[in-house]
Amino acid sequence: MIDLRSDTVTQPTEAMRAAMRNAVVGDDILGEDPTVQELEALAASMLGKEAGLFVISGTMGNQVSIMTLAGRGEEVIVGRDTHIFNLEVGALSALSQVQAVPVTVTGGRYDPIEVERAIRPQGIQSTRTAVICLEQTYDLNRGLVVHPSNISELRKLADAHGISLFMDGARVFNAATALGVDVKEVVRDADVVTFCLSKGLAAPIGSLVVGSHEFIARARVMRQRLGGGMRQAGVIAAPGVVALTHMVSRLPEDHANARNLAVGLSQIVGLRVNLSEVQTNIVGAQVDGLRGGVEGFLSDLAAEGIKAKKTGPASFRMITHYGIEESDVQCVISVCRQVAARLTA
Ligand SMILES: *Cc1c(COP(=O)(O)O)cnc(C)c1O
Repeated sequence: MIDLRSDTVTQPTEAMRAAMRNAVVGDDILGEDPTVQELEALAASMLGKEAGLFVISGTMGNQVSIMTLAGRGEEVIVGRDTHIFNLEVGALSALSQVQAVPVTVTGGRYDPIEVERAIRPQGIQSTRTAVICLEQTYDLNRGLVVHPSNISELRKLADAHGISLFMDGARVFNAATALGVDVKEVVRDADVVTFCLSKGLAAPIGSLVVGSHEFIARARVMRQRLGGGMRQAGVIAAPGVVALTHMVSRLPEDHANARNLAVGLSQIVGLRVNLSEVQTNIVGAQVDGLRGGVEGFLSDLAAEGIKAKKTGPASFRMITHYGIEESDVQCVISVCRQVAARLTA
């Protein structure tokens, strides 16, 4: 089975399992788990921020961040194709009690003019715009890099209007890898960043929120309110330390595999790939003129032991990750070619 539906399907490495077994733990709600503290400090230092907070999921990290940065009834500006807007069960309104204002993001670039237009002018009938939310990489079906120069433009806007800049950096290390820069440069202009250990870094569980000491102290209270305070959490923080120390440096492999996969798929009759949008570990593709459409194509692939994810009426995605080798990519391309040929005949 070659599972390309997501980079969340990875198995923990042997080093992660050993780290879990040997983790030194304590009660983290009492601030006494040394392994959680190590992970939080490591995450903060790698991203160039003052402090970190370990949370159970990216979704919890996003909501803890927003409920700390924004008051009830305030507005947050979000990209239209983002996780925080589309895939968190309405938590922005249901839990964080804010109003989301979506903007269109084209090719991974947030248009500063459109973002500024979405900022509320002050007045007795207006609520306050509290946060601009970025997603890095942008759109989990495409994985587009938001360029640091674009983030700087938004930083200026945020400063001019006295609002916070938040980054859902679920795949921020993929962005840094694609840009060939230290991750600090990618997040420098953001006040607060969340990122996932359980996506491309192959940890079994967990995300981090990083920001200032003052922000993290308040976010810790919000995590507790959500039931996200954990006791001997070092057992799940330990593989996260391994993820940060051992799994970041191998991301170029995933990107090379994605690129090769995309080029291979683009040469198959019946499939279309926009190669300029293949920037990280995510390959988006369209099915064009195959019998049975995208469902027919994906079910035939599944019958051959290859899983991909449908992302629209005629589109699917494939995501490379730890455990997917160059030889798997060659196998996927050749099976896709056979299946597509069968469905055009
Ligand atoms: C996966 C993901 C999340 C949420 O992470 P979970 O751990 O699944 O809650 C948030 N944002 C983006 C962009 C993601 O891809």
